[in-house]
Amino acid sequence: MSENFDVIVIGSGPAGYVAAIRAAQLGMSVACIEKWRSKDGRGINGGTCLNVGCIPSKALLDSSHRFHDTKKELAVHGISTSEVSIDIGAMMARKEKIVSQLTGGIGQLFKANGVTGLYGTGKLLANKQVEFTSHVGAISVLNGGHVILASGSLPIEIPMAPVDGSLIVDSTGALEIETVPRRLGVIGAGVIGLELGSVWARLGSEVVLLEALDEFLSIMDKGIARETLKIFTKQGLDIRLGARVVGTQINDGEVHVNYRTTEGSEHTEVFDKLIVCVGRRAYTTGLFADDSGIQLDERGTIPVNEQCETGVPGVYAVGDLVRGPMLAHKGSEEGVMVAERIAGHSAQLNYAIVPNVIYTHPEVASVGETEEQVKASGVPYNVGTFPFAASGRALAANDTDGMVKIIADANSDRVLGCHIVGPSAADLVQQVAIAMEFGSSSEDLGMTVFGHPTLSETVHEAALAVNGNAIHKANRKRG
Ligand code: FAD
Ligand code: NAD
Repeated sequence: MSENFDVIVIGSGPAGYVAAIRAAQLGMSVACIEKWRSKDGRGINGGTCLNVGCIPSKALLDSSHRFHDTKKELAVHGISTSEVSIDIGAMMARKEKIVSQLTGGIGQLFKANGVTGLYGTGKLLANKQVEFTSHVGAISVLNGGHVILASGSLPIEIPMAPVDGSLIVDSTGALEIETVPRRLGVIGAGVIGLELGSVWARLGSEVVLLEALDEFLSIMDKGIARETLKIFTKQGLDIRLGARVVGTQINDGEVHVNYRTTEGSEHTEVFDKLIVCVGRRAYTTGLFADDSGIQLDERGTIPVNEQCETGVPGVYAVGDLVRGPMLAHKGSEEGVMVAERIAGHSAQLNYAIVPNVIYTHPEVASVGETEEQVKASGVPYNVGTFPFAASGRALAANDTDGMVKIIADANSDRVLGCHIVGPSAADLVQQVAIAMEFGSSSEDLGMTVFGHPTLSETVHEAALAVNGNAIHKANRKRG
């Protein structure tokens, strides 16, 4: 093994492995160090996203959605089914198969691009040297022309609900529950709570989400958050806002959860399983030596500029380890940007246009500014909305909950944001993200021909509605 590389990447999650591949494509010699091990002890790439995040959660969301649809939604189409049952073991095995197919695929991509995959722990030393400790304990020192830190994040633990891996689990444990809990508690009605809470609710659990804040999805566009809360409540998710968990006890195989409301009253709920998902924190344990020049900020992340450069020349940090939303695609694009900049290109990342999706059903998706942000900025704006209930395609699919909302600058008509709760919201919002990247106005979207009948027509109509020109709904009179 050569001990000199143009680029050394620590971490092979979506930020690290993408950076490694792109750097190799640009002609550099690249090593990517990964400490993750499979249950049977093999080194495994892909990080949180592929192993215990985006991919396994989406596999379970899709399986549980099919089960729920088959049970509850087919009769309206005239389809009758006899006993519908779910084999949790088979569902989990399918999830594992998808995970191993994708994690294995990264190894193949490394091979195809000439990236050296190293399995063990990386630690940044002074002068861009990296100490590599292999899984069998052999230590070597690698010299990097450039080093990219991409060690990701871990679930936040809270002392009042210590994860025991059995009755109280974090997001990773929640992907491995073996039987459908009768009563499932979830601390935190954020992205993970809603996605994984939905999985088990669809499979038959009574799900209660305890959320400390009084506001639901507080960083989202408020109109869309309100609509989303209505839809999830109608689905049977018991979402309690202003409910801060203050303690838990295990009694007779059950979890007793104490929470305090914003008004100050104390309550206890009893569950047979509890998921703790109260956010994630940067994973920096053992990542750098004291004399490496790297220091953490007050949030525990590695400070970087817009180009993901740390304060140490030639050392970069990307993904969940640094500021910004903890999203796989944000990390991947940072990885590409850094690799290209190391190669001398002038790559940039447009942080203002990073889509955000909650993969429930219906999906909740957004890009750009919320109405509240635009209002606060003082820019005059117009809003166009369109309900899925007025979409022929949504009606044909019996999937009419939700709406599209587009916000545009009142002077230039440039699209500033799009927020959707509804079927295929993730894919619909991406259309607007592309439009925004090209600086489109709502009129540009309105002049674009959309196929009929598609869910995309809701985006078209919302864009037309911005200036009071929607065809398939009554437009608000402008004064
Ligand atoms: P990670 O994916 O965490 O990878 C970091 C890697 O670095 C890990 O493999 C770790 O083992 C390795 N590492 C750490 N320290 C060292 C070291 N010292 N030496 C060697 N290796 C090291 N995001 C989305 O965009 N869409 C989703 O649908 C989505 N769903 C999610 C669902 C769940 C349940 C969870 C938990 C997260 C989800 N996320 C989703 C978030 C997403 O997984 C993260 O934003 C993403 O994985 C971050 O990528 P990363 O490369 O920065 O870090
Ligand atoms: P989150 O920040 O989305 O939600 C955590 C929630 O827990 C917050 O609303 C917070 O107010 C609440 N909370 C904190 N302490 C509490 C307490 N004591 N009692 C009750 N509520 C409490 O975090 P998450 O759901 O853990 O997800 C972590 C991150 O992972 C997300 O921010 C996101 O970046 C990423 N993720 C993304 C996706 C996706 O893109 N679809 C999916 C899953 C995770």
